[in-house]
Amino acid sequence: MFDVLIIGGGVAGVSCALVLGSAHTKPYASDKKIGIIAHQKASALQEALFNNAYGIAPGKLGAEILTESLEHLANAYPHVQQIEDEKVMEVKGSYPLYTVVTNKNEYATQSIVVAIGASNTFAIEGLMAFVEPHKKALANKNRIQLKNDDHKVTDGIYVAGTLAGWRSQLAIAAGSGAAVATDILTLWNEGLDSQVHDSTKIK
Ligand SMILES: Cc1cc2nc3c(=O)[nH]c(=O)nc-3n(C[C@H](O)[C@H](O)[C@H](O)COP(=O)(O)OP(=O)(O)OC[C@H]3O[C@@H](n4cnc5c(N)ncnc54)[C@H](O)[C@@H]3O)c2cc1C
Repeated sequence: MFDVLIIGGGVAGVSCALVLGSAHTKPYASDKKIGIIAHQKASALQEALFNNAYGIAPGKLGAEILTESLEHLANAYPHVQQIEDEKVMEVKGSYPLYTVVTNKNEYATQSIVVAIGASNTFAIEGLMAFVEPHKKALANKNRIQLKNDDHKVTDGIYVAGTLAGWRSQLAIAAGSGAAVATDILTLWNEGLDSQVHDSTKIK
């Protein structure tokens, strides 16, 4: 049983996983089980080339980020379970018990973060009622988003990245995933606002 299962191993999903994973020293997060379904076949990163993303050296290939970001997650926060080569087909149940069905397995989880991009090929059964036209993309691109209020779709379901209705820039998607992570951490911290920082100053 996961406390939170992130769907999508692109920019928003991995950013969310990194911030959630980094909270393992906090008492309110130390016992939480976090997972990410890191299917990589339809990522915007595959053909991208980055010259304008904050903190990323110019000329960086999105295809490199796809693999290096998951290595970063595995090395820094190995307690975050990475589920590879599975595509999510369906979400069943209601808060606080959802079942995420992939093409190979089923996973029980309390909360879900959906971060699979804004393509109109979106086809996760159980979430179709939340699909609407993307509000910040050109109409002729036929992008979609999930209806949400500050990333929250419904109890226990969050959306992040371009699928949350943000424009397609790496820094925006990463910020959206990180924002959702801090919302979940705040929830785990009984509503007390939460963020996770490391510092060079030794305490
Ligand atoms: C060609 C190109 C060039 C770009 N250049 C720039 C640039 O120069 N600067 C810039 O800032 N931004 C650029 N971008 C935009 C940037 O890459 C995106 O804004 C960003 O990747 C969006 O992040 P995301 O997390 O919403 O989606 P993605 O990064 O696409 O992540 C979605 C993830 O969900 C996974 N997924 C999809 N369906 C499922 C499913 N059913 N189950 C499980 N997982 C699933 C995918 O495999 C993928 O890993 C570019 C994009 C493209 C396509």
